[in-house]
Amino acid sequence: MTTQNGDTSKSQPRFLIIGAGMSGILSAIKLQEAGLDDFAIYEKAERLGGTWRENTYAGVACDVPSHLYCYSFAPNPEWSHRFSPGAEIQTYFEDVAKRYGVSDRIRYGTEIRRCAFEDGRWRIETTDGDTDEGDFVIAATGVLHHPSYPDIEGLDSFEGVCFHSARWNHDESLAGKRIGVIGTGSTAIQVVSALVPEAEKLTMFQRTAQWVMPQENPAYTDEEKRDFREDPTILEQLRGEISQLFADNFSNAVVDASSPQLQLIEQVCRLNLETNVKDADLREKLRPDYRAACKRLIMSDDFYAKIQRPNAALVTEGIERIEAKGIRTTDGHLHELDVLVLCTGFRVDRFMRPMEVVGRGGLTLEDAWEKRPFAYMAISIPEFPNLFMLNGPNGPVGNFSLIEVAELQFSYIMQLVDQVRSGACGEICATRSASDQFDEDRVEAAKNTIWQSGCSSWYLDDRGVPAAWPWTFDRFREEMAAPKLADYQLS
Ligand code: NAP
Repeated sequence: MTTQNGDTSKSQPRFLIIGAGMSGILSAIKLQEAGLDDFAIYEKAERLGGTWRENTYAGVACDVPSHLYCYSFAPNPEWSHRFSPGAEIQTYFEDVAKRYGVSDRIRYGTEIRRCAFEDGRWRIETTDGDTDEGDFVIAATGVLHHPSYPDIEGLDSFEGVCFHSARWNHDESLAGKRIGVIGTGSTAIQVVSALVPEAEKLTMFQRTAQWVMPQENPAYTDEEKRDFREDPTILEQLRGEISQLFADNFSNAVVDASSPQLQLIEQVCRLNLETNVKDADLREKLRPDYRAACKRLIMSDDFYAKIQRPNAALVTEGIERIEAKGIRTTDGHLHELDVLVLCTGFRVDRFMRPMEVVGRGGLTLEDAWEKRPFAYMAISIPEFPNLFMLNGPNGPVGNFSLIEVAELQFSYIMQLVDQVRSGACGEICATRSASDQFDEDRVEAAKNTIWQSGCSSWYLDDRGVPAAWPWTFDRFREEMAAPKLADYQLS
């Protein structure tokens, strides 16, 4: 086997990183750190940042605390708030990528069309027809990046301005407009809270009510930031504390629907609704009929206040169709609108697709994932050797820091890579039997999770099984500490 450098061994393999979002940048930095400098990063867009590049909607912010939502090796003393705005997070990734010498190595505007395992190596082809090859593929292609457009009659007939939250139209001023928002997910809640103050009228079209966890978002003072800058141990300690708090009170609780922590979360959300929504009719409209955290829990300190403003309305009648002038609901009423914002989420089963991925013996990913996407430990797919996913199918989702998840996954992947580098094998991927067992255990464990307690959400697959890590975050950490090599085929 010959690498592009002419090496005949795989001790210095070549890596093809697909995607320059949070996980792709992480991969490049970690490879450099390990002295594995032979890699290429392919990015279809003209800018890095993944989800934070794509999501520039009004009010965009991360609901994971900032000091946890950053790389462990690149703490940021400058975060402005406990939960920082999206633009600040985008800048953070750009700064880190630059600081670690990764930005210049990204091949922007280069979409991979095909990725095939041939003669022991991965060969890729871009949409422009260029090719490259490498020993390993790191699929850092993200999860929430293919907008899901609602299948509502007449959507195309709307004469006003209409866009998806992840395709925000910044050319259009929304001030003084009659704005309609479809959806009540994490995105819609942030969008509504941000737009109510500037809209002439904002109408939120709700299909399902949401539990809302009140969450203060104080700004860090200059003194605090100075302390963070001057003493890195403060930040380290803060990160550790937030991570533990998050794991104990949330991440480990959502996988046990009967946990006391979940009951407490429910109480806090109910109290928030009872105390902060004055009008009894509106309160009942906003009251969910399923358990808190079954859908992704909404964190907001101002949504209830904003939706009660005189220029805001919550519509719970179903949408009959969209017409030239606005939305017609099932009660026959036409809600006239100038702007329609679709906060209708993402197609979450895409992962690396639409890229054509071909594994051993010509097996395509489309065939391997014919029923639904899966990957052993969310990382490796049988018959797709030396290809590893970050934040792949059935991994931790919940309200976790996906950065923490990706860092743990990457160090696990490096241990698989080491098997090849040490000469123990040339190819490595999960066995089918280990993958089947993993899936069986996962489906069984998922029955205890809050996600399967009776609501619909993007976490659920076509069978109604949460496509998520159904065990505690501590167990995830333990599993990621060292791969069980018996679950892998080394050849
Ligand atoms: P989402 O959670 O999938 O919500 C989509 C919303 O659109 C739901 O309220 C859904 O209603 C509604 N909807 C879809 N089709 C509809 C239709 N035909 N008619 C009426 N309503 C329709 O999407 P999202 O809010 O964009 O959030 C997706 C994920 O992104 C989040 O769960 C989170 O993981 C991530 N996110 C994170 C943050 C953050 O702060 N970290 C912020 C935003 C997003 P139903 O509930 O009835 O299905």
